Amino acid sequence: MDKLIIGSHVSFNKQNQLVGSALEAISYGATTFMFYTGAPQNTVRYNIDDKLTKDALKLMVENDINIENVVIHAPYIINLANAANRDFGISFLRQELNRARRLGINKVVLHPGSHVGIGVEEGIKNIAHCLNEVPEAKDVAICLETMAGKGSEIASNLEELKKIMDLVVYPLYICIDTCHLNDAGYDMSDFDKFLELFDQIIGLSKIKCVHINDSVNPISSHKDRHANIGFGTIGFDNLIKIIYHEKLKDVPKILETPYTSLSGERLYPPYKFEIEMIKNKKFDEKLIENIDSYYK
Ligand code: FE
Ligand code: FE
Ligand code: ZN
Repeated sequence: MDKLIIGSHVSFNKQNQLVGSALEAISYGATTFMFYTGAPQNTVRYNIDDKLTKDALKLMVENDINIENVVIHAPYIINLANAANRDFGISFLRQELNRARRLGINKVVLHPGSHVGIGVEEGIKNIAHCLNEVPEAKDVAICLETMAGKGSEIASNLEELKKIMDLVVYPLYICIDTCHLNDAGYDMSDFDKFLELFDQIIGLSKIKCVHINDSVNPISSHKDRHANIGFGTIGFDNLIKIIYHEKLKDVPKILETPYTSLSGERLYPPYKFEIEMIKNKKFDEKLIENIDSYYK
């Protein structure tokens, strides 16, 4: 059997950089990971220390993490759909792709953006126009994320993603997010049907990353609130089918589920225990209790 490529969002800090991220992923029993190269809500970025990157690579090789499966998430303040901050968005995205390349990482997940009142069609044109000014994307794959359709978010349906892809001069890829798809109106309990539709509109080979999240809200709610695996409206069994789907076996699966605890005061990462449940293919209703007693 092929080895499951599963991991989670991890941190990336100035001092330890990729070494810290890799160690965190290893502590969760993960075979991949995803991180922001700095705070997702601001543009403060540190210089990459190549010595740390080299140490991290060694650590990853020793622990069965293939860097080809590691993913960077672009900061969500970049909004290419809104012309107001277009130049900033382009230059920051270019820097981010250069940082990815310097770290040896070949996938960057990007939220396409929100049109903020100018309309979907204008928003799509803006996104494509900006992306066409990012030559670095020939070396690092930009993966547009499927969105929940919260506010004026673009790309809560496959047709909009396809339009962006058609307007851009180099190949773009896709990161599907199970919570976002559910909230956007796609039924995750019939995933084969979704993949069939995806294949018709975009093509299955374009999927380079899968975000695995349960959802707090029902289908078509357009809310985007992630739930722990098995604690939401998609449910454990449906998520397991997606995670182990034959057609996605070579694609990294990344958990972005919320930190949690019994009291709700200090919160702890759920990933070690969620990954364990996923490997066992068995839901553990004591998940939160286990997390709590492990980290407390
Ligand atoms: Fe995202
Ligand atoms: Fe996501
Ligand atoms: Zn989300």
